[in-house]
Amino acid sequence: MGTSLRHRCKSVTQLEIMPQLPLERGSNNPWPEYPRVHKVDYGQQEAAAIFGEDPRQYCITAKKFVGDEQGQLKEVHTVKVEWVKDDLGRFTPREIAGTEKVWPAQLVLLAMGFTGPEETLFEQLGVERDERSNAKAEYGKFATNLEGVFSAGDMRRGQSLVIWAINEGRGAARECDRYLMGSTNLL
Ligand SMILES: Cc1cc2nc3c(=O)[nH]c(=O)nc-3n(C[C@H](O)[C@H](O)[C@H](O)COP(=O)(O)OP(=O)(O)OC[C@H]3O[C@@H](n4cnc5c(N)ncnc54)[C@H](O)[C@@H]3O)c2cc1C
Repeated sequence: MGTSLRHRCKSVTQLEIMPQLPLERGSNNPWPEYPRVHKVDYGQQEAAAIFGEDPRQYCITAKKFVGDEQGQLKEVHTVKVEWVKDDLGRFTPREIAGTEKVWPAQLVLLAMGFTGPEETLFEQLGVERDERSNAKAEYGKFATNLEGVFSAGDMRRGQSLVIWAINEGRGAARECDRYLMGSTNLL
């Protein structure tokens, strides 16, 4: 956001698939938990100062990008979403019909994480998941409910850091070795 402003963009919009967080802690988010409250970063503050409003649009997702004859980006097509519980009780975004919108755009920056691993492998193999939709496998053992199937990194612990991915990758390799050989020399 800040970089776009410093490059003197004519306008800037931040699309956010999640809803806006409350201004104050909810009763389900007491101290000393990390406060899940609305925050305004300096880039958003600057955008509001220049353009008169917070640049964020909430509960919205991009459906497609459309280019011109030269292949340059021209438009972003979006739709609003509402967060509803699926069959497993997890909140998932559902598109709201009639809220489609076309935004003129010349540059799109993707800066997003993820809310959980893809489901295909879980479903096809029958791997059990935890309440955050990650593979259910104890740290240190990395074994899932399926014999011979191990899980590590983001897929097991949720979105995290490269150092954890390395640590868990090494740990999972060690446990695979132990499973296959009956013992292991890997640390
Ligand atoms: C935008 C963004 C910025 C980030 N910035 C940082 C940062 O600055 N510092 C930091 O430490 N961490 C950062 N992270 C987090 C970090 O990238 C992850 O924690 C880390 O990459 C997780 O490693 P992983 O091996 O568990 O999973 P991944 O790196 O996601 O690797 C999973 C691999 O599995 C492959 N795969 C998926 N499905 C299948 C399939 N069916 N068959 C075969 N292969 C498959 C994928 O193609 C992928 O290569 C960032 C993450 C994102 C999304």
